[in-house]
Amino acid sequence: MSQNPAPRVRFAPSPTGFLHVGGARTALFNWLYARSQGGTFILRIEDTDQQRSTEESYAAILRGLNWLGLDWDEGPHAGGDFGPYLQSERLDLYREHLDRLAAEDKVYKCFCTAEDLEAREKAVTDAGGVWEGYDRHCAHLSPEEIAVAEQAGKPCAWRLRTPDEGSTFWYDLIVDKREFQNTVLVDRVIVKADGFPTYQFACVVDDHLMGITHVLRGDDHVSNTPFQILIYQALGWPVPKFGHMPMILGPDRKRLSKRHGATSVEEFQTLGILPAAMLNYLALLGWSPGGNAKEVMSAQEIIKKFSLKKVGSSPAAFDYDKLNHINSEHIKNLSAVERLQLALPIITERGWGLDPDWMIHGCDGTEAYLGRVLGTLGNRFSSLITLPEQIGFFFTDEHFVDQEAWAGHVASDAARENLAALADALEAALDLAVAQPAGAFEEVIRTTAEARGVQAGDLIHPSRVALTGQSRSAGIFEVMELVGAPRTIRRLRAAAAAG
Ligand code: GLU
Repeated sequence: MSQNPAPRVRFAPSPTGFLHVGGARTALFNWLYARSQGGTFILRIEDTDQQRSTEESYAAILRGLNWLGLDWDEGPHAGGDFGPYLQSERLDLYREHLDRLAAEDKVYKCFCTAEDLEAREKAVTDAGGVWEGYDRHCAHLSPEEIAVAEQAGKPCAWRLRTPDEGSTFWYDLIVDKREFQNTVLVDRVIVKADGFPTYQFACVVDDHLMGITHVLRGDDHVSNTPFQILIYQALGWPVPKFGHMPMILGPDRKRLSKRHGATSVEEFQTLGILPAAMLNYLALLGWSPGGNAKEVMSAQEIIKKFSLKKVGSSPAAFDYDKLNHINSEHIKNLSAVERLQLALPIITERGWGLDPDWMIHGCDGTEAYLGRVLGTLGNRFSSLITLPEQIGFFFTDEHFVDQEAWAGHVASDAARENLAALADALEAALDLAVAQPAGAFEEVIRTTAEARGVQAGDLIHPSRVALTGQSRSAGIFEVMELVGAPRTIRRLRAAAAAG
């Protein structure tokens, strides 16, 4: 047998909200670890909190993981030998293990109500004391006292007996040794009065039964880990390895929250972030490939380089600008076909498409046209959000206009006269019933410039703004070819008239 069996790791979200950046990063690091080590990535849904768990959240978490491409080997819809993978379907297993702990007197029944606890806490703090979490009121009830409480129909929870002496520690995969004195550990509830296990108990039972070797999660769980280790010990089970990832901060180095901007994975999707870019950026939140290695990477490249040793122990700040930069780099790396696939829904959503009346040279349909349009952008296609602004003029007269460019290049008498003259010349020289190639536009522009005794640029610059609304574009002859002669002439005339 090999010394280090392939790891089994899990992402264990509670379906009580959307998949946010922190959860997605936890899922990603587990996935990367599994994929880089030939291990197994398990998805387990921790839905024992009946009040807060929702179907909607469950569906959103699955959608988020799917969007990022974090496929799980075992879990909902994937099956596996250790299911069910929804905790609400595993209640018998928790009951069975509770019974064992009860038979071994490692847990005890607690009849304290929330009001009882509040009253006692108040009494302690009013007297200047410190309430440690639970005062072990029920830890030593006699069988008679228990019988009385039960006969009175009092609901009871179960608490774990925790030791008073010594310490509980583990060697964290990310933060090194963590140690807690047992005196500070509370006899927490492991099964609630409604019969449902608490997160602590269900998590340990499942991690053990599912053969989890490494528990990688956010460091908001550090305070749960010693208690969970005590549960493992009570059950006589080996303790898995733990790694706690530092939290994600906002750019102001306060805990990342809605007030910093988007935090749920699906929000980033609507902001035009590509899943590959999101995955790449999340991987860099707390991990770095080291040295001068490039940061823009595909999932496969990240898997090859990933190592837990290179996960940092200090909090990482979420940098929206860096995410956008990585996103634009990913777009630049796409093939023409991939860009087309990405852009097509964006234009169809707006009702944009090729109109045969435009008379476009060599384009027999919207896809072919869009392919040419994207070709004119080249690497200036760097964001799905700005794309409609960049290419809108190819599809509609109601496109974005840069007012500064307009004022600088179109709004003068000389420019207006040049535009009107060019419109006339194009109309006279070109057959508007057939599509025209770029060269035909070029020829008319050059002869018109010569006839008017001006530079070609004196026609080109105002034409560019009149046609595209922008002062930067692909070569103007190609732009004219793709806008088509009828619309080109119309826009030149409109600009000449409006100035
Ligand atoms: N259900 C817990 C959460 O969503 C999982 C914690 C863990 O990974 O153990 O925070």
